[in-house]
Amino acid sequence: MDTQPYGGKYDGVIGVLTALEVIRTLNDKDIKTERPIVIVNFTNEEGARFMPPLLGSGAALGDVSKTSVYETVDAEGINFETALHESGYQGKEAHRIKDAHAFIELHIEQGPVLEQRQKSIGIVQGIQGLAWLTVHVKGEADHAGTTPMSGRKDALVAASSMVTALSKYASSVEELVITVGTLQVAPSAPNVIPSDVTFTIDMRHPDDHMRKGVPMAIRKIISDTSKMYDVDFTLETNAQTETVHFPERIRNILLEETSSLEYEAEQLYSGASHDAKNMSRIAETGMIFVPSANGKSHHEEEYTSDADIEKGANVLLRAAKRLADEK
Ligand SMILES: [Zn+2]
Repeated sequence: MDTQPYGGKYDGVIGVLTALEVIRTLNDKDIKTERPIVIVNFTNEEGARFMPPLLGSGAALGDVSKTSVYETVDAEGINFETALHESGYQGKEAHRIKDAHAFIELHIEQGPVLEQRQKSIGIVQGIQGLAWLTVHVKGEADHAGTTPMSGRKDALVAASSMVTALSKYASSVEELVITVGTLQVAPSAPNVIPSDVTFTIDMRHPDDHMRKGVPMAIRKIISDTSKMYDVDFTLETNAQTETVHFPERIRNILLEETSSLEYEAEQLYSGASHDAKNMSRIAETGMIFVPSANGKSHHEEEYTSDADIEKGANVLLRAAKRLADEK
């Protein structure tokens, strides 16, 4: 239930609330299942206050130790343990999730696909892998007034051209998305030709084979552009994650329950990461998406209609009951 600065009120929250509604509905109707159904509300999914994201699910599954999580500090120097304690949600270790027969997470899509295709339910095929790269462009600083345009080694002009070329390239490959989200210019003075520019590349594609080839294409674009502008560059890979594919058995259960309710479903990969990615390592996992108006998320305009949330909750209820009744 944590959020981003200026984030909306649906991201994450409706997953917890619809799960609560599922339990309440089963209890109201006095329906008992073979296996217990447990709601998990993971801490610090966004990584907005404490880095990295998925910290709660990562800690629960042993990726990070409790000590290192507790020692993580926010921008104001407050450590995680203190913040958790003060929030009143510091639980007991005995309540930590250790295993599960299955795990289902309902979430807003955070993209425009379901709305565009007029489907109320998204069945998530998996979470697409990504690569984070850093490019450093090295030019030459010089006087802005006395250096003619020809013969300059302007790192920012070169970097700008790289950013444009990367965007064009990504647009030409189906399902590929490339984002340059940060850019630092040095020496960053109005009357000095920029000598150094550093920018990051976030690249995502659901197909592992395809995604592994993309950094080569990126390198060629950076290299060709740097020759055009007579600058040098370095390119490093900071992080890479594989695409997580959710099991077909769970996807089929979600599809069957969606069609038995006479809703229409679309299968799609998630462009964003979710705690379900971590949970998929210990349990058969699936995700249900509901539409995001105008595809907006991490923004106050984030919106999903009550009608769509209700449909999502109904699919969650049926899938949870069915999985909990498995031997
Ligand atoms: Zn989010």
